[in-house]
Amino acid sequence: MAKKQFAVIGMGRFGSSIAKELTGMGYEVLAIDSDEDRIQELSEAVTHAVVADSTDEEAMRALGIRNFDVAVVAIGTDIQASILSTLILKDLGVATIVAKAQTELHGKVLSKIGADQVIHPERDMGLRVAHHLVSPNILDYIELSEDYSIVDLKAPAQMVGRSLKQLDVRAKYRCNVMAIKTGSNMNIAPYADDIIREGDTLVIVGKNSDLSQLEQAYSEG
Ligand code: ATP
Repeated sequence: MAKKQFAVIGMGRFGSSIAKELTGMGYEVLAIDSDEDRIQELSEAVTHAVVADSTDEEAMRALGIRNFDVAVVAIGTDIQASILSTLILKDLGVATIVAKAQTELHGKVLSKIGADQVIHPERDMGLRVAHHLVSPNILDYIELSEDYSIVDLKAPAQMVGRSLKQLDVRAKYRCNVMAIKTGSNMNIAPYADDIIREGDTLVIVGKNSDLSQLEQAYSEG
């Protein structure tokens, strides 16, 4: 299978970080920005960098944007440009569009007009930091929906040496341990008898209110 090709529009902090990381991972990346200086700065760090206005349909067509597997719209401040660009990419037939939203309403509009994935970087990072502050064992927090999330929990001392059956988070907190990470090894089908070791990370899915109880119960760890 051919490697995915990515177009990233808007080389602010968010967009340029995505573009550089993807390039570093060996993917072909087309970075687009209307600001020549930004493109100049990035030209060495990504596969292709071009100056173009993503609200100009002809310019996007000329770049062959529809041939990219994924286009990321990383324009933030100019909400109108973000919406218009997403609409144009959709019309031109880009397979997958990921768009960055500045506000909840902006995000709703982006979904409505066809963005396949809407990202709220500041909101989501704020959420993660808040959970990490309350419970330093929470390494990551991913919202699945309004009510459900996945957390990466660094095994607290109280868990070490005990089996999943003994911990019984399913009965106690109505949460499910989906996987146990031990170093670079990932056990994605843990058994009830599997023992938690020091340094392990548990990947747990559950309702936000239940996860919250579990986090608090293990916050001292
Ligand atoms: P970040 O928080 O990621 O730094 P931001 O949310 O502040 O970014 P902006 O700075 O508004 O986002 O926009 C990011 C980039 O998008 C800028 O470099 C800007 O030049 C570019 N940009 C804005 N409008 C367009 C457009 N119509 N076409 C191409 N690039 C655009």
